[in-house]
Amino acid sequence: MKIVILLGAPGAGKGTVAGFVCEQRGFAQLSTGDMLRTAVRSGNTVGQLAKGYMDRGELVPDEVIIRIVREYLESHGNDAKYLLDGFPRTVAQADALDRVLAEMHEKIFAVVQMDVPEWLIIKRITGRRVCKQCGDVYNLPEWAPKVEGVCDKCGGPVIQRNDDKPETVTNRLAVYEKQTAPLVEFYKKTGKLVRIDASDRHETDLNVVRIVDGAA
Ligand code: AMP
Repeated sequence: MKIVILLGAPGAGKGTVAGFVCEQRGFAQLSTGDMLRTAVRSGNTVGQLAKGYMDRGELVPDEVIIRIVREYLESHGNDAKYLLDGFPRTVAQADALDRVLAEMHEKIFAVVQMDVPEWLIIKRITGRRVCKQCGDVYNLPEWAPKVEGVCDKCGGPVIQRNDDKPETVTNRLAVYEKQTAPLVEFYKKTGKLVRIDASDRHETDLNVVRIVDGAA
């Protein structure tokens, strides 16, 4: 098993780089945000519980997230390579991940700290649009769908995520600083942390590929 963690604020580009690296290097993308959005759409118990937290820009309780990730990793076998996008987001989640991996006789390969200046984060989050149907991500004005509001890939409606609206974004960034940023110190101590400037998408893709290949 090869586990690489992408660590960065909302809008740092974790999902975008994960898509690229998964395609180039055969990693599976483990995005807790995507898993939760699927759960909300399906209306299952996890979805019903998570929706309120997500709409407010707060974190879903650790127990729920840890259970989802544990079940995912345990059911997917030890051979695969995983890119963790949006998990862990608290020290409790990071501790739990270490425990799950220890039980599986596995460990983390690398943690990529994606640094992006705050103005660019806000521009990216407020410009982000997603396809309601297939989840494909766009960013206005540079990466707009060819026909406004219509997904290039599947023709579904392209909308703004509820939690990308300005009133929620401020809260999500505050939550990141308070609950997730301490993970930088946590992973620094493990010697696995690699910091990159993630302002430029193309450079970021190449840097993360280099890191997952183990050449960094
Ligand atoms: P994301 O797509 O990663 O920005 O996640 C969207 C929302 O899902 C977050 O604002 C949280 O409400 C929730 N979420 C995603 N991942 C986690 C996590 N690891 N821990 C707690 N909440 C999460």
